[in-house]
Amino acid sequence: MPDVAIIGAGASGLMCACRLVSLGITNIALFERNNKEGKKLLATGNGRCNLSNKNIDASDYSTDDPNKLRAVLEAYGYEFTSKFFEKTLNVMLSGKDDLVYPRTYKSSTVVDAMRNFLEASGITITTDDMVKDISSIDAKYIVIATGGAASPKSGSDGNSYKLINSLINDRQAFTGVLPSLVQFRSSDSDVKSLSGVRVNCTLRLYVDNKEVAAESGELLFTDYGISGICTMQLSRIYNEYIRKGIRNCYVSADMVPELSLDVLRDEVERRLLNSDILDKADRLSGILQKEICEVILKRGGDIASHMKAFRINITGTRDMENAQVTSGGLNLQYLGDGMRLTDNVYVIGEAVNVDGPCGGYNLQWAWSSAFSCAQDISSRISVL
Ligand SMILES: Cc1cc2nc3c(=O)[nH]c(=O)nc-3n(C[C@H](O)[C@H](O)[C@H](O)COP(=O)(O)OP(=O)(O)OC[C@H]3O[C@@H](n4cnc5c(N)ncnc54)[C@H](O)[C@@H]3O)c2cc1C
Repeated sequence: MPDVAIIGAGASGLMCACRLVSLGITNIALFERNNKEGKKLLATGNGRCNLSNKNIDASDYSTDDPNKLRAVLEAYGYEFTSKFFEKTLNVMLSGKDDLVYPRTYKSSTVVDAMRNFLEASGITITTDDMVKDISSIDAKYIVIATGGAASPKSGSDGNSYKLINSLINDRQAFTGVLPSLVQFRSSDSDVKSLSGVRVNCTLRLYVDNKEVAAESGELLFTDYGISGICTMQLSRIYNEYIRKGIRNCYVSADMVPELSLDVLRDEVERRLLNSDILDKADRLSGILQKEICEVILKRGGDIASHMKAFRINITGTRDMENAQVTSGGLNLQYLGDGMRLTDNVYVIGEAVNVDGPCGGYNLQWAWSSAFSCAQDISSRISVL
């Protein structure tokens, strides 16, 4: 009988196995439903794997138990993680601002390093093996590392919650799931007509006509609404209001954030006074793309105000297929020390109700929860 059976060879499951090995525990069985380990991990950070962030704080995440989250992150945060990658897994890290990547900027480096580390200790990953029933697993300790419900094609399709609930039979233990780090849908036909156009902006989220959050970055107009990292970041905040039943939301894009409204208005007027043969959109197109200027002219009213606060009505987010992470899941407060759910079953990673912004926060949670679990199992095995 294995000492530890880990269900799911994604980010958290692989890391849990690696940490156990580094603590001297090698009698491990690892089950993965896909034909390969780490499918989602390979897709992270556009294939570059933004695996952590130097500036992580527990308050940046959404969870039901901020104190427990803080304790896990303080014990196994960026410092611990980077040391483990560099000294134990032999993956050199590199960074851009606070974002941390493997030095190769290739997610395959991370997956290969973990697989090689496990293989060197004689641990094979049983692939094409979907665990449907926890009672079918015979091991001293079982770790559920089966992910959330986002990006189901990668293997994490929400079956975690059934596996977990088969053990505790308590629906109250879960926060309902929503897609997070996801694009917004809009029914505004002029927004959709801009599909393919990109613009740097400050994007503001309004709820009941009050600004509640802002993010700067590239906004991409699409045939369903809007995308881009600033959009994804705001989707997390949007979810908080959706959970409270508040749906009166829209976003507003300041597409010329470096100029004040007055300065921009003067600039627009100067261009429109010019009576050459160019049409109005052509005269404005040195400020913003011509397509955007045409839409703004059709909206009518003060042109500079539209450029500084281009309203986009939101009808919701896209679905789990398009989301990077899951908001919700098994409440963290239901887990004891070391991510323990019952006497011998642990839950780690995205299956738990913890989600963070873009920028390495979600993989850091996968690693931190895995380290915490492995440490607990190791301390229990060594006293047996
Ligand atoms: C496109 C994309 C890009 C991302 N980029 C980043 C990034 O750059 N930085 C960042 O911090 N986060 C990123 N994330 C989020 C991050 O990848 C996840 O939060 C993280 O992978 C979660 O780890 P996990 O181990 O909980 O789940 P997963 O990595 O999803 O692993 C779960 C594994 O369990 C397997 N499984 C599920 N059910 C069963 C079962 N019943 N039996 C056997 N196996 C099972 C699945 O096939 C899967 O391999 C990204 C996500 C996506 C979709």
